Parts: sequence; C-alpha cells; structure tokens
Amino acid sequence: NISENQPVIRQLDEGTINRIAAGEVVERPASAVKELVENAIDAGARRIEVAIADGGKTLIRVTDDGCGITAEQLPLALSRHATSKIDGSDLLDIHSFGFRGEALPSLGAVGRLTITSRAAGGDAAQISVTGGAMGPVKPAALNQGTVVELRDLFYATPARLKFLRTDRAETQAIGDVVKRLAMAEPFIGFTLRDVSGGGEGRVTFRADPESGDLFDALHGRLARVLGAEFAENALKIDAEREGFMLTGYAALPTYSRGSAVAQFLFVNGRPVKDKLLIGALRGAYFDFLSRDRHPAAALFVECDPHKVDVNVHPAKSEVRFRDPGMVRGLIVSALRHALAEAGHRASTTVAG
Ligand code: ADP
Ligand code: MG
Repeated sequence: NISENQPVIRQLDEGTINRIAAGEVVERPASAVKELVENAIDAGARRIEVAIADGGKTLIRVTDDGCGITAEQLPLALSRHATSKIDGSDLLDIHSFGFRGEALPSLGAVGRLTITSRAAGGDAAQISVTGGAMGPVKPAALNQGTVVELRDLFYATPARLKFLRTDRAETQAIGDVVKRLAMAEPFIGFTLRDVSGGGEGRVTFRADPESGDLFDALHGRLARVLGAEFAENALKIDAEREGFMLTGYAALPTYSRGSAVAQFLFVNGRPVKDKLLIGALRGAYFDFLSRDRHPAAALFVECDPHKVDVNVHPAKSEVRFRDPGMVRGLIVSALRHALAEAGHRASTTVAG
C-alpha cells in the first residue's frame, strides 16, 4: 500500500515552465532589452529604436525594420524552443545572437507582451500574451519590420519585482546593454528613448549607422559610445595567433576609469562579460595602472565558432574557449605591445 505522503511526480504545464525559465533569461529590464534588441539584429534590422518607461518596469518597446514575422508564424515565435536560427545539426556553429527559442515565451510569462510584425509581401499582424496565455492573431497596421512591446514586467512575479533597483539604476543598466550591442553592430543605427510620463520622451542615446570599412565604423561607433576624447586616445589593436583574431581599441592608461564601465568585450560579435577576458585585460595593463584603476577598451575576439562554446548560460554572456590560455596570451601580449610602443612614442616625443 502506497502511503498518502508518497510524492507524486507530475509534468509541469508550459506556463509554469516558461516562468521558471524566465527566472534565468529575464533577470531585470535590461535583460529583456538585450533579448529584444538581439532579436532585431538577428532579423537584419538597419535601424532599431528602444523606448522605455520607468526603468523599463512599466514599458519596453523595441521597433525594428528587419525581416518581420509572418502572421502564420506569430504563435510559433511565442512558443517554447521554437527558433528560426538553428536546425539543431551543430550547436557549436552559431552565427546569430539567439538560438534557444526562449526569450519571447519567457517574456510573455513575466509581462504583458504584444508583438506586431510584417514580413515583406505579407500583411501586418499582431499577437498578445498575458500571464502566459496567448491571444489570437489579429490584423494590424505596420510597415515592414517588428514592434515588440513589453508592459508591466514581473507584474505576475511580485518577488522579482521587489528585487529591482531604482528606475534610475535600471535605466542605466538598459543604456549599458544598448551601448554594448551598438558597439558590436556599428552599421546599425540605434536610438534609446525614455518615455517615462508619456509623450515623445527624450532621446538618451543615439548612434546613426556608421560607414566606411569595419575599422572606421568601429572607431566612429567607439567615439559615439565612449566619447571623442576616448577615441582619440585609444590604441588600435590588430593581432592574430593560431586562428584567433584580436581587433579593437585599447585606451592609454591615462584614460582609465574608476570602474569597469568602459570595458567592452566581444566574442564573435557577441558582447560578453567573461571572466577570462576581463582578467586578460587587467593582466595586460598590470604594469601600467594602479590597482584601483580600470582600463578602458573595446576588444573583439574572432575565431572559428567551434573553438568557443557560447551555450554556457541562458543569458549567453559567458563563453568557454577550448584553449583559454591561448586567448589570454594573445590579449595580454597584443595590448602590452601596443602600450609599450605608445609609451615609447610618448617619451621620444617629450624628449625630442
Ligand atoms: P531565438 O532568438 O533564440 O530564436 P526568441 O524567443 O527570441 O528565440 O524568438 C523566437 C523567434 O521569433 C526567432 O527565432 C525569430 O524567428 C522570431 N523573431 C523574434 N523577434 C523577431 C524580430 N524582431 N524580427 C523578426 N523575427 C523575430
Ligand atoms: Mg532571441
């Protein structure tokens, strides 16, 4: 006879599964902005506009001019583990920001989500999901592209709501996310608007699409994001070792900061906050900076996608290199070399 207290195993429903997953994918408004802007980039957008209100807590709206979603596919976009970006044949061969098919269903589980979209040659349509329940697909009006609107984030999970920081702090975190993605994609135009209190709001960040070759574009975008003075005092980095390419800009030690706010690190075009890379950056400046100063840099590591695993965490901000020692060595030696050369130039200029 089985006891009354014997635990019963049951399959969770999709809404609960989405809410659990959302805990990892959507930590705060800035993570929602990251997911939505990445989707816009993956959709081939040339211009992306982000509007937020009250630190993103009451409204996040991302508008893009990308490929759009057809009316028939809208419900699928909101379904768990549904993606147009991989076919599952090679999980290490990833060329898009997304691939897990988790962001939209997760956002729909923790906020009021509405997607309006129009694919080329099709009609615009709209779908909403509230409390995890998907509504019908309705006709809508929109030119090409997609508008994703997320209202009242975490309204259904009051515990998470309590952990959010002030509107100001959340707004700043959103700005940081948009700037990092803007650095990664210099040919795309970005606008961030704060529409708290309604109306047109005010533009808090704007970067028009850059032109020229990639280095010119990166330099222009760097100046946009970090300031012209920083760009003028940044050393160009261009190094290669055994299939790993390192490019970007590293600032002179005199342009260091009191925190790590000006460290922009990318792996195969993806902004990361990776311990290995941050440590390598610190190591490179070790002889040039006092311990309380943080170097400013925008560094891009490019390699065969098979040499790095981006599927470490749902937020995809950490990566795992197959040969971490090699990557660290490349960064440290390339930056030290550039810094030593700049120091040498500076001292000969002073002397001469
Ligand atoms: P993932 O990005 O991992 O594929 P998401 O849940 O973020 O998962 O999105 C699901 C799918 O919805 C995407 O694979 C894509 O086909 C579609 N999609 C999402 N956002 C957009 C967008 N802004 N423009 C066009 N398609 C989109
Ligand atoms: Mg996505």
